Amino acid sequence: MSEQAALALQGLRVVYDSFVALDDVSFELAPGETVAVVGPSGSGKSTLLRAVAGLEPLAGGEVLAQGRSLIGVATHQRDLGLMFQDHALFPHLDVAGNIGFGLRMQQWSRARRSERIDELLDLVGLGGFGGRAVHELSGGEAQRVALARALAPEPALLMLDEPFGSLDRLLREELTGELRRLLRELGQTALHVTHDQGEAFALADRVVILRGGKVEQIGAPAELWYRPRSSFVAEFLGHANIWPVEVGADEAVTVGGQRLGLSSDLFGSGDAQAQAQAQAQAQAQVKVVVPVDAVRLEAAAAGLATGGPPSTDGAVLGDGAGSSLGVVEGGAELKVEIISSVFREGGYRIDGVMVGAPAVTVGFEAEMPLGSGDIAVVSVDLDRLHRLGN
Ligand code: ADP
Repeated sequence: MSEQAALALQGLRVVYDSFVALDDVSFELAPGETVAVVGPSGSGKSTLLRAVAGLEPLAGGEVLAQGRSLIGVATHQRDLGLMFQDHALFPHLDVAGNIGFGLRMQQWSRARRSERIDELLDLVGLGGFGGRAVHELSGGEAQRVALARALAPEPALLMLDEPFGSLDRLLREELTGELRRLLRELGQTALHVTHDQGEAFALADRVVILRGGKVEQIGAPAELWYRPRSSFVAEFLGHANIWPVEVGADEAVTVGGQRLGLSSDLFGSGDAQAQAQAQAQAQAQVKVVVPVDAVRLEAAAAGLATGGPPSTDGAVLGDGAGSSLGVVEGGAELKVEIISSVFREGGYRIDGVMVGAPAVTVGFEAEMPLGSGDIAVVSVDLDRLHRLGN
């Protein structure tokens, strides 16, 4: 562990009665880094934040700030800025009073305080709002004031717990973008806790995924997305294509009884031992994840049930009967029965199940929606299969 880490958690353990809420949690924040902790409800996110803040006694482990142990240091002496969703502003103070509250506690002079408050108001885009009453603020403005209040004393570590959880989606996305810019501009180290992986991916340099009080995986957003370690991570991040595939000794890859083609990559990159092991496990079942952009719509036709007009993505079109869409023998193509189409930012996200193997769900993107019951043929980029652990 490096001395330079702004924050280092080493083997953190928190136990409630006999229930282990955090178990051997270790990771570091580099100076200026934003790390987001995500995980399902009950995975220990709030407990982690409380432990770092000194609000939860540790059954084991260390919390170090710049190499200095925080064990036994009171919360208000840990040099933290806290911004919680439910940390309401003080209703009896105006905006300036709220932002300056911590500074007054730290006995900043009136002149220095006033200068710092103006600086923060500008920083969060609320110049001139100092004299406003708290009840006159919109939800987004109130959260900006809460952020300014947390940043005011220039804390070594900013801790954010679902900071925009109470706001509507558009405003939340806008403020998340602003917060990202601001944290980078200030070089502020931040630990962010959320159940919303979209928010975490938008804000953080690295993301920690918690599962049952343990760290499941840590990585940059793209790394987690394209190389999830386990089905748990892939599912938590919302991957649609988590497939059980069979890999034969001849490196033939099969899903749901359909041969996709040959792949030599599924058992590790050029690792001879892994390759040999794979050969020994001929016909081994492994789980893979396939990003939706590695699955491409080749052709589509209205389902047999509806008999309606065929839909198309500008690709080869069947004659209106799903059964006539032939799958290329030996090619990396799958026949999919469509379940739903949802519009998403300029395109459609289509979900369905493999024809003949309904346990295999298939998701992909297309320019046109497909109807429920339609049949599509998709091709799969075999190079983009990523093997999952358990
Ligand atoms: P998250 O924030 O990820 O939803 P929490 O950290 O709140 O998870 O909780 C982790 C686990 O610890 C949960 O199973 C929760 O029920 C339990 N827990 C949290 N606080 C307490 C407490 N004060 N006493 C007993 N169990 C608790």
